[in-house]
Amino acid sequence: MNQATLSNTQATTATLKALKCKECGEEYELKATHVCEFCFGPLEVIYDYSLLSRTVTRESIQAGPNSIWRYRSFLPVTTDNVIDVGTGMTPLVRSHRLARRLGLNKLYIKNDAVNMPTLSFKDRVVSVALSRARELGFTTVSCASTGNLANSTAAFAAHAGLDCCVFIPADLEAGKILGSLIYSPTLMAVQGNYDQLNRLCCEVANTHGWGFVNINLRPYYSEGSKTLAFEVAEQLDWQLPDHVVVPLGSGSLFTKIYKGFNEFVQLGLVEGKNVRFSGAQADGCSPIAEAYKQGRDFIKPVKPNTIAKSIAIGNPADGVYAVEIAQKTNGNIETVTDTEIIEGIKLLAETEGIFTETAGGTTVAVLKKLVEAGKIDPDETTVVYITGNGLKTQEAVQGYIGEPLTIEAKLDSFERALERSRTLERLEWQQVLV
Ligand SMILES: *Cc1c(COP(=O)(O)O)cnc(C)c1O
Repeated sequence: MNQATLSNTQATTATLKALKCKECGEEYELKATHVCEFCFGPLEVIYDYSLLSRTVTRESIQAGPNSIWRYRSFLPVTTDNVIDVGTGMTPLVRSHRLARRLGLNKLYIKNDAVNMPTLSFKDRVVSVALSRARELGFTTVSCASTGNLANSTAAFAAHAGLDCCVFIPADLEAGKILGSLIYSPTLMAVQGNYDQLNRLCCEVANTHGWGFVNINLRPYYSEGSKTLAFEVAEQLDWQLPDHVVVPLGSGSLFTKIYKGFNEFVQLGLVEGKNVRFSGAQADGCSPIAEAYKQGRDFIKPVKPNTIAKSIAIGNPADGVYAVEIAQKTNGNIETVTDTEIIEGIKLLAETEGIFTETAGGTTVAVLKKLVEAGKIDPDETTVVYITGNGLKTQEAVQGYIGEPLTIEAKLDSFERALERSRTLERLEWQQVLV
C-alpha cells in the first residue's frame, strides 16, 4: 500500500463519528441499527468534518484507487479491509446527439449501466454495506430488493465468501432473477410487491441476526450513493453541475447525491452553488411526485403498477426528504407513462449508444418532459443519472424494436433484403412527413 492510501485509511478510522437521527438528532453507536428508539426517525452516519478537512485534498483522493474507494474517508468503514472489485468511476459522457435532440447545450450522462460487477448503481451501496457488514461480524447477508440490489448483494457475497439470502417480488424480469441465481444465493421470490416483502424482511432481520443491507445496515448502505455525487464533481473538473435528474425509488439515492455535493462544498473541494435536484418516477408508482405536486410533507403509500419495477416502491422510506430537497433547490419531481419510459430507453440507445433499463428510460423521459416544459434551461450544466442496464429488462422493449432481416448466405439475398429495408425506411419517412 502506498503512502497516500495509508494516510487516507488513517483519516477514515478517526473521521467516522456516530449514527445520528435525522429527525431528533439523538446519537447512536456505529452498530447495525437504522431507526431512532425515541422518535422512529431514520439514522444517518456523521463524520468529523473538521478533521476530514485537514486530511482530505483533491490530490489525496486522486492518489486513491480507480473505484468508489478513492472516497473512503467519506464512507462508513473503519478498517482497510474493504471489498473493492472496481465498483464506480463509471463514465461521465458529454452528450451531443441526445443534447441536440432535446435542445440542451451542456448535457452529461452519468453511465452506471456499466457499473461493476452487476451493471447498476446498486454495486456502490452494496460494496459499502458488505464491507461494513464484515467489520460488524455478520456472516449472512440479505436484502429486500426490487431486483438490482439482489443481483449486487448476491455477487458481492459470493466474492467475499458470505452466506446470502435475498428477497425479490416473484414477478420480476427474467434477467433480474437469473442475474441473482447465477451467484447461488438463497433466492426468495415473494408473492407480493416490494412493500410487502420489505415488511417480511424487517421481521426476519429481527429474528435471524442477518445483515440486511437496506434494513439494519441501511445507514451504511445508503452512504455508498454519495459516490455518484463525488465522481460527477471530480469528472466535471472539481465543479458542481447546475441541475441533476435522478430516478426515485425509495428516494435514498436522490438524498445521498445531495449529501455528497454538500460534503464536497463543506470541505472546500468544490465551490458551493445551488444544484437543482429533479426526480423521476413512473405514473404507475409516483407517491413522491404526488406529495411534491400537492405540497404535502408526508407520503401517501400507493400500490405500484408499472414496467419500471426497479423503482416501484409504493411506500418510499426517504420520500419526504426527497420532496424537501426538490423544493429547496428549485428542482422538480415529474412522472411519465410506461409508453414514455419505453420511448426514453429507445431515445437514449439511438442517440448515445447506451442501453438502459426501465429506471433509466423513466429518467430520460422525465428529462425530456422537463425540457419541453421549460423547466431546464438549455445552458444549465445538466447531469442525467443512468442507474441500470437494459439487458436486464428486455421484456420492457420486446415488440418495440424491430426484427433482424433473415437472409440466405448469398449476395443476392442480401441485396434484396437491403433494398427492401431501404424502401421501408423511405415509406416510414414519408409517413412522418405527411
Ligand atoms: C434501486 C434503483 C433505483 C432507486 O434507488 P433508491 O435509492 O431506492 O431511490 C434507481 N435505479 C435503479 C436501476 C435501481 O436499481
